[in-house]
Amino acid sequence: MKKVILTGDRPTGRMHLGHYFGSLKNRVEMQYDYETYIIIADVQALTDNFENPEKVRDNIKELALDYLSVGIDPEHTHIFIQSMIPEIAELTIYYSNLVTVSRLFRNPTTKAEVNQKQNLFGQSGEGITYGFLGYPVSQAADITCFDCEICPVGEDQAPHLEQAREIVRKFNRIYGPTLKEPETILSSTPRIKGLDGNEKMGKSLGNAIYLADDSETISKKIMQAVTDTNKIRKNDPADPNKCMVYYYHKLIENENLETVCRECKQGERGCVACKKELIQKMIEFLKPMQEKRAYYEQHPELVEKILTDGTIAAQKKAKEVMKRVRKSMKIDYDFIQKNRLQRK
Ligand code: SF4
Repeated sequence: MKKVILTGDRPTGRMHLGHYFGSLKNRVEMQYDYETYIIIADVQALTDNFENPEKVRDNIKELALDYLSVGIDPEHTHIFIQSMIPEIAELTIYYSNLVTVSRLFRNPTTKAEVNQKQNLFGQSGEGITYGFLGYPVSQAADITCFDCEICPVGEDQAPHLEQAREIVRKFNRIYGPTLKEPETILSSTPRIKGLDGNEKMGKSLGNAIYLADDSETISKKIMQAVTDTNKIRKNDPADPNKCMVYYYHKLIENENLETVCRECKQGERGCVACKKELIQKMIEFLKPMQEKRAYYEQHPELVEKILTDGTIAAQKKAKEVMKRVRKSMKIDYDFIQKNRLQRK
């Protein structure tokens, strides 16, 4: 029996290189060793987009296309839509009795987000919604509803995972051993920096290269990337480690990396030529993904089938787990089902 692994994303926009190197690449590698579920977290996306449900809906297939383009293999991975699994919502309600409001406020990730979103939540937090605060609880339900044992996350999500583990321990203590406690695997990949040198590549920061960007867009973006500001003239020596162009040469493993580094340090390389080389390499790097994406774009019925199959598999698993949960909580009213069957 393979261990179960669950990962996922909110369908709020296309994936970029930060997503690829931060998690997607790892998922592709792990999918053959684990029973893998990928959740398209549309319900969680509504936490921030409750007034804009079209955005969430429109991005579900886009996200599936991104997954398929990078090599997520539907033969090995169940890609499913969160809202189609009502058991997750049910489990979230049961968990909500096991977590105090003060514990939710103490969650370091929640605290950081509250500080970041003061314009939305207000100085004293009066605009914080129940859904936002309860996000780690619903995430705990996402994970445990599938008997997930391994959960690879970035550092910022680790406190949520710890909260999920606490909930599982409390549940098992009160109702008896029922749920598997997920193990956190911290992603070893550091955050991918943006073209502007920002520590994080992000949609809202406008510093990202998207997996589906066309050649012209890639070219425009890379030509604007931040380089070593001490290099004024073409033949000035520079420090490649202060340059985002070099950072990306390294990231996509340009086989000429040593030459780029040496020529940059010795002032034998101009930034324009160096950027043009990166543009070429980047287009080559993204080409196989974009070809795969184009294939699925031309076959939307296949994408729908993959999402349907993944959702059916996830429903089956969630039903099994919830049967156990209800039994442990003594809310498995079998007589209803029995009577219903007799009436048919
Ligand atoms: Fe960056 Fe290349 Fe210019 Fe050096 S030569 S600063 S690596 S763009």
